[in-house]
This record gives sequence, structure tokens and C-alpha cells, in this order.
Amino acid sequence: FIRGKVSSITAVRWEIQMASGELVQGLVAGRLSSEAYDENFSDLHAPLDAHEALVAADRCYFCYDAPCVTACPTDIDIPLFIRQIATGTADAAGMTIFSQNIMGGMCARVCPTETLCEETCVREVAEGKPVQIGQLQRFATDHLMAQSVHPFSRAAETGRRIAVVGAGPAGLACAHRLAMHGHSVVVYDANAKAGGLNEYGIASYKTVDSFAKREVAWLLEIGGITIEHDKKLGRDLNLTDLTERFDAVFLAIGLAGVNALGASGQGKAGVRDAVDFIAELRQAETYSQVPIGRDVVVIGGGMTAVDAAVQAKLLGALNVTLVYRRSRDRMNASRFEQDLAAAKGVRIITNAAPVEISGNGAVEAISFEYMDDDLNPMGEVFTLSADQVLTAIGQTLGATELPSITRGRIAVSPDGRTSVANVWAGGDCTGLGDDLTVTAVAQGRDAAEDIHRALSA
Ligand code: SF4
Repeated sequence: FIRGKVSSITAVRWEIQMASGELVQGLVAGRLSSEAYDENFSDLHAPLDAHEALVAADRCYFCYDAPCVTACPTDIDIPLFIRQIATGTADAAGMTIFSQNIMGGMCARVCPTETLCEETCVREVAEGKPVQIGQLQRFATDHLMAQSVHPFSRAAETGRRIAVVGAGPAGLACAHRLAMHGHSVVVYDANAKAGGLNEYGIASYKTVDSFAKREVAWLLEIGGITIEHDKKLGRDLNLTDLTERFDAVFLAIGLAGVNALGASGQGKAGVRDAVDFIAELRQAETYSQVPIGRDVVVIGGGMTAVDAAVQAKLLGALNVTLVYRRSRDRMNASRFEQDLAAAKGVRIITNAAPVEISGNGAVEAISFEYMDDDLNPMGEVFTLSADQVLTAIGQTLGATELPSITRGRIAVSPDGRTSVANVWAGGDCTGLGDDLTVTAVAQGRDAAEDIHRALSA
């Protein structure tokens, strides 16, 4: 229940109305000028121009047994594509990338390269300055995506039909590879738009100019893939029915549920899940529509927490504090992400867990207790003023009627096979690998190959 009224100055003041009907809190939309929003949410890294790409490519040693390739979850032949850029064949470089990773364009924007390929680059090890692999990948993929013809084509139609549940990175990568092999794919997605976290869950400044949407449209150009929206497993679809209607099923449902905070008062107005906050921001027509608090506290230590905290600051919050229960070394967000947050003015407090959210209907303050790294309380409590609390403390499957579960995720073999015949799974809903776009793409691709082998046997 949100309503807005134009304030006497320039901002639109939003008031959150509780179910009781009482107006209890003010968050402000339109804190900044349109120029400030444009500047704050511009591309995090400006793309390389042709000359800059040649200079960057020239730094590569084209290593034999290159460690950067080993560090890439999708095994892209990095020295090969950099050599192709260096020799003026950017299209060939794009093909080298896309043949391993069909979402190489998004991965070039959102991969934590500083903890993957670039961390292991021999020039990072020797000089502390890696080859700009991510930026070069973006140069090559942008170049090829700008061509008028989709670079992949389908094999002859096999007559086999596969259902993919979830149109995020794992689902789309799987669908594209299956379509290449000549199979017909129906992708079901719970949302109104395809793309999954690329569309709904990643900071705006990492994927500007509707890149997530453009990438999906480009990927679908291969043909043979149909997407049905607003179809959710457990609500509109059930697994038994899918296995009867299709030759194979690939589950890429992500993590739809959220963990509880474990502090009292979490039902107060102004407390919300960081994933929802980022989704609202990503889907807003203008940044000035998104209400933001003055004192924002973000709880969590992963990429979502950092994305939420940085964007809260960029929307004009005065004080943004990110609080994580363990030490900085244990944060899932990379050191680059942590430093980015600090550079944008986000204060990071570690080794503290929330105890109580207080306020008269709406949040006014939140208290924390210091913890050691084994999460033992240290007996010292402190309180932060807060009119908005964003929680990013991990997600759960949040679905029913699934194959066997291990440690809260769908149990799969390395090829993505589940405990149910003809059902594969990949991406965040499984326990395989890190929860990264690039990992999900690799799992979708590998499951598609295994499905193809199974259907061809
Ligand atoms: Fe090039 Fe660095 Fe990879 Fe070696 S490790 S091939 S220098 S990008």
C-alpha cells in the first residue's frame, strides 16, 4: 500500500501505509536531479574502443596451458580470442567466446573477473596488473552481436521436445544449445520477462541500455525456442505432467524463497528483501520513481547485498551501512565489490548480527551484536538509525514437488542429472558450483549436451 504526493519542493514523498491504515513512514523518491541519476547509473566500465582493445590485447602472453582458461567456469579459450582481437578479427573472437558461453556478453559485464580469470593471469601475478580479459571479452561479443545475422544455426529438426523451466542464464544457455542440436524447446518462466537474475537481480550500472533484454532477443534468433511467461512450477506446472509431455525436462528455477532474518521486528514497514528492491529498481521506468530511505541498512555479505547497498547510495540515501555477520575475508562479495561499495560511500561493518528491529510500526532503528568468526555473540550491542532495512541473507528453493534435495538444493550429477528419470537441473537451484551467471551458463550448456547424448542414444 504505497501512495505518493508531490512535496512542496521537488521530490515525490512516498508514505508506506500499514494494513491498519496508519501512515507510519516516509521514504523519498526523486531525491536527485535526472542528471545525477544518469551519472550515478552510467556504465560501471566504459567499453574499450578499437584502439584500446588492440593495446589491451597486446599485453597478453598467449600462454600455453593458460591459467586464465582453467579459472573460467565456461572454459573459454582466452588466449585464442585475445589473439583474434590482436589480429583484427573481432568476429572470430566473438565466436570463440560464444561457442563456449552463449551469454558471454553478460558475463563480460558481471563476472567477478578479479577472482576468476584475471586473478590467475600471469601478468597479475608478475605485475599486479592483469590483461583486461573481461573488457576484451565485451569488445569481441559486442562486435559480433552487432552483426545482422545470428552466428549459430540449427541442426536438422530431430522431432524431440524439451521443457526448460526457468528463463535465467542456466535455462537460456541450455535452450540455445538444445536448439543448436535440432531439438524444439519450450521455456517456461514465472516472470513477465526472460533473463532471470540478469533482468531482475543485478545492479543497473553493470548492465545498462537494456542489455539483458537485448541479449535474450539475440539468443532466441537461433529459432526453435518458445518462451511461455507467468508459468511457475508448483502453481501452473507440475513435474510429473512435464515429464509425460516432453522427452526431457531441464529445471533452472533459481532460488525463489528467502531466508528469515532471525531478529525480532522484521515485519515492520521499511524492511524488505534486497532482491525485491533490486528488481523494483531494474524494472522502474525512471530511477526517480524508486523511493529510498535516508538511513539505509543492508544486511548480508554477498553480491546482492553490495548491489543493493551501492544502488541505495546512488539513489540518494544519505547513510548506507552494510552489516555482515562474519569478517570481510568471509564475504561472498569479492574484494573489488567491497572496494566499489566503499568508494561509493557505503560503510561496511563486519562481525555483527542483527538482534532487534525497533520502531513504532515502521523501522526506526536496528540493533546488532558483535560476533566472532564462529558466530559466537561477543556481548557488545550497538544500534544504527534506519528508515529502510534491506536483507540479503541468502535464498532458498521455495518450490515443492522437486527431485531429491541435498543441503537445500536439487541434487545433481556433474552432468546435471537429477534423481528423476529424464529430468536434469542446473544453475542456482542445484548445489553445483558458485551462484554466478557464468557458472549457471556452464551448467545449462553441459546439461544440454548430456540431454542430447541421452536422446541420441
Ligand atoms: Fe594472456 Fe594472462 Fe591468459 Fe596468459 S594468463 S593467456 S597473459 S590473459
